[in-house]
Amino acid sequence: MLDVETLNFIKQEIEALLNQGSEESVRRAEEMAQMLEARIQEQRQMESDIVQSKLRALVEAHPWMAPKLLQQNLSKIVGENASAKSKRRKVITIATRVTDALSPYVACRIGCSDCCHMNTMIYEHEAIRLAEVTERKMVRLAYRPINEVFAHGAKFNGKPCPFLREDRCSVYEDRPLVCRTHHSLLDNPTSCNMEIPPAKQTRPPMYDPDLLEKPYIELNVKHNPAEPWGNIAEFFPD
Ligand code: SF4
Repeated sequence: MLDVETLNFIKQEIEALLNQGSEESVRRAEEMAQMLEARIQEQRQMESDIVQSKLRALVEAHPWMAPKLLQQNLSKIVGENASAKSKRRKVITIATRVTDALSPYVACRIGCSDCCHMNTMIYEHEAIRLAEVTERKMVRLAYRPINEVFAHGAKFNGKPCPFLREDRCSVYEDRPLVCRTHHSLLDNPTSCNMEIPPAKQTRPPMYDPDLLEKPYIELNVKHNPAEPWGNIAEFFPD
């Protein structure tokens, strides 16, 4: 398995050979680059096979997690004649069941907090909940267009979430929906490593987070299309 350190080491070796500039060193650099590319492709295929077999095992063990069934279940909840609060609670309950069902298949472990250094986007109602349970002051944000929210949120990539304590979530039971949908179906968290420059990061394979996030967004927009939304650290800047 190629880890980030080995990959960086090989890349440095290739660069050093190219910098030497001789015909022989350039030829060796090209050979190494080809071998590396072949190894990366082989590894991607292996990982994809492992992920597919995990997803099959998951749905076999939990038939309600078949994407179509889950979608139907969630769209029923979104369409219910009930308050936004009650519908959100139901989606969160399902998200918790999904997290529990996924636990034997994911690389995520206590103390692994790479995804808590990513751009965590939350709704105002989620920030209010966090402010209530932690008694921490929150900032009221204005509603902003989505491109503005994303452009600003990207600045927080690589920075720890304000609720992260010693690599653990201090608000785990009340964490926002987006924190419940992200994980890695690989056997190790290498691809979540935030030391990889954003342009080179690839999203780790997951049980599709949109299955939960889309209906949640739909019900929130139905309830209040202008609800402020932003990075968790914008609501809790200190
Ligand atoms: S709220 Fe918790 S799970 Fe979500 S990003 Fe912050 S520390 Fe991580």
